[in-house]
Amino acid sequence: MNFKIPVAEPDIDQEELNNVIEALKSGWISSKGRFIIDLEEQFAHFSNAKFGIATSNGTAALHLALEALDIKPGDEVIIPSLTFIASANVVKYVGAHPVFVDSHPDYWCIDPEKIEEKITDKTRAIMPVHLYGHPCDMDPILRIAKKHNLFIIEDCAEAHGAEYRGKKVGSFGIINCFSFYGNKIITTGEGGMCLTDDPDLSEKLRVLRDHGMSSNKRYWHDVIGFNYRMTNIQAAIGLAQLSKIDLFIEKKRQIARLYNKLLQGSALELPPEMSWAKNVYWMYSILVNSDGPLNREYVAKGLCDSGIDTRPFFYPLTVLPPYKETVAYPVAERLSCQGLNLPSGVKLSTENIVEIVSKLKLYYNLGIYV
Ligand SMILES: *Cc1c(COP(=O)(O)O)cnc(C)c1O
Repeated sequence: MNFKIPVAEPDIDQEELNNVIEALKSGWISSKGRFIIDLEEQFAHFSNAKFGIATSNGTAALHLALEALDIKPGDEVIIPSLTFIASANVVKYVGAHPVFVDSHPDYWCIDPEKIEEKITDKTRAIMPVHLYGHPCDMDPILRIAKKHNLFIIEDCAEAHGAEYRGKKVGSFGIINCFSFYGNKIITTGEGGMCLTDDPDLSEKLRVLRDHGMSSNKRYWHDVIGFNYRMTNIQAAIGLAQLSKIDLFIEKKRQIARLYNKLLQGSALELPPEMSWAKNVYWMYSILVNSDGPLNREYVAKGLCDSGIDTRPFFYPLTVLPPYKETVAYPVAERLSCQGLNLPSGVKLSTENIVEIVSKLKLYYNLGIYV
C-alpha cells in the first residue's frame, strides 16, 4: 500500500472538498441533486455525446448498456481477449456469451482484421475497449458493424478524452461507457457513465438504472431494473475532477513524453501512438521484451524494492478459469507476459520519473546480463 511512488494517485484538491461539503450541506446525499445533473451534462458535452447517464460504477454502465440494447441469453458479443474482466462479465450478466478476438500487435487493442471470422448468426454487438488510453481503430470496426448489423458499445473506461482521427472516444458506438474508479483519468471514487445520442435509449437507461421505475408514475415498474445510481456526493467529486480533465490529459501526455525521451534507445518497447490516434496514456505501458532468464517480474520486483509501484498487464481473459479456451491468442498472450504499467498518476514530478527510469534501466540491464 505504501509505496514511495504509487502507480496511480488521484489528484484531489480544494475544489472537490468544497463541492462535497456543498452536497452534504444541501441534504441531497443520495441520487438526486444538482451535481449529478451537471456532471451528466458536462461529461456528455466533453465527449461530444448528447446524453449522459451516471451510474454507480463503470461495470454497471456496461451492464446497463447491454440491458438497454436487449442483449439476451444465447446472444454473442465480440470483445478483445486482452481487457479488464468487467468487459466480459457484463456479457455473462445478461446471459450472453463473450466471443474473444486477439489484439493488434502495434497498438494493443482489438484487431479489426480478426473480428469478422468470429461473427455468427448469434452475434449482436462488438465491444471495442480503448486499452490503457489508446483508441481502437474504429473505421474498420464501424464498417464491420454496419455490414453485419451489429451494435457497437465502446468500453472507454481507460480512455477519457482519447481521440480517433480527431474525434473523441465515447461518440462512436450506440451506447458508450466510462468508469470513474479511483485510478481512472477522472474519478468519483466509484462511479461510471453511459453516453448516447439516442433519446429513447437515454430514457431506457435512466429507467433501468432506477429499479425500472417509470419516470412519470412513481412506484410503477414495467421492467425489472437495477439500483445503479450514482450519489450526488460522488458527482460532486466528479464535477470538480471534470473541470480539470484537460489539464490531467495534458499532464498524462507530458509524463509519457518525458518517459519516452528518457527511455529512447533502450530495448524496451514503449507505448504506441498510431498516426490516427491521440493516446491519453491512462497508464504509461511498456513491454519488457527480454528473452533472458530475468524478465518482467524481475524488473517489477526491483522497482518494488525501490519503493516504486507498478502493475503487470491484464491476463488474456481466455487463460482465466471463467473464460478458459484452448485456442491461442498469441498477441494478447505476448503483451500480457511482457507488459508493465509504470507509475502514471498526474501528481508525478519530473524527479520521480527520472528516478523511476534510472531504476528501471538498472534492473532491466541486470536482467539481461545475469
Ligand atoms: C475499470 C474498468 C472497467 C470497470 O470499471 P469499474 O468502475 O471499476 O466498475 C471496465 N472496463 C475496463 C477496460 C476498465 O479498465
